[in-house]
Amino acid sequence: MNQASRYRRLWVETPVLESVSLGWRHHQVSLKIEAMQPSGSFKARGIGHACATHVANGVTHLVAASGGNAGQAAAWAGRMLNVPVDIVVPDSTGQRARELIEAEGANVTIHGESFAEAHVVALSKLKENSAYLHAYDDSLVWDGHASMIDEAARQTEQPDAIVLSVGGGGMLAGVAAGMARNGWSDVDLVAVETDGANALNASIESSEPVTLERIDSVAVTLGAKRICDRALELAGVLARTPATPDWRGQLSSELVSDREALAACLAFADDHRLVVEPACGAALAPVYAKAPCLDQYDRILVVVCGGTSMTFEMLKATAASL
Ligand SMILES: *Cc1c(COP(=O)(O)O)cnc(C)c1O
Repeated sequence: MNQASRYRRLWVETPVLESVSLGWRHHQVSLKIEAMQPSGSFKARGIGHACATHVANGVTHLVAASGGNAGQAAAWAGRMLNVPVDIVVPDSTGQRARELIEAEGANVTIHGESFAEAHVVALSKLKENSAYLHAYDDSLVWDGHASMIDEAARQTEQPDAIVLSVGGGGMLAGVAAGMARNGWSDVDLVAVETDGANALNASIESSEPVTLERIDSVAVTLGAKRICDRALELAGVLARTPATPDWRGQLSSELVSDREALAACLAFADDHRLVVEPACGAALAPVYAKAPCLDQYDRILVVVCGGTSMTFEMLKATAASL
């Protein structure tokens, strides 16, 4: 198989579906179903693109520190590209995530209490021809995520706003780049976080980058303590660098509770027969709530980013425990 055909296989084109269940009054809601990606989330795009680019440039070993969807996407990409992958995860990473990564053929090392410690061990695994994959602060990753909007621009009319969830801001950076390069520069963005994983909202509130002391949300995938600079530039917290894509819409930052994110996951499973994790439920929650921040938009596109961290039973049990 040549490089080009391998490259194309690292993510799939996902459908855009209109959702009658999520629409209300004159508001028309469409969904970009990234939950259909082979590794279970949109991370397949950015991490897949980064892995493919590295391997095309001679890299023979991929390393990541993530027990979540980024680790899974890297493991999947490594299997497709036929290169070994080392994933380092902290002790806190659940059995399920480890098994999913191992099933893709990657080596899993368990080390340390937190992501920071796993990250240090991951760096120690780098050899001469290795590449380290960052889950959100990497321009290759943003470039891959932007392909989501390349597709959407072919599949559907320009929306008035795109709703998406924010962890470290990689998806936000990629989606904004995709909007800029597809003539959707004026489309607004609604960036949703959960209470307790609110690094973007806190930074906007204090008009400077905020590093959270700790993460306190069941949406573990949104648990970045600090947002990447590019996303902070797009949110107007940091001054834009010339390289920042020319996206000029309004960004509004929304917070939802864990309870709302989980309720949205459960409703979505009923309405659209898909299980997504709370990080994705966060983006669905303001739409289900017909939140005032969406009032001004007739056409809304929601990124259903997916995520594999919870089964349906886990979603129900967690919702019941809150
Ligand atoms: C990574 C991830 C996010 C957050 O993306 P960032 O690029 O970190 O902002 C949201 N939802 C899911 C399912 C994810 O895997």
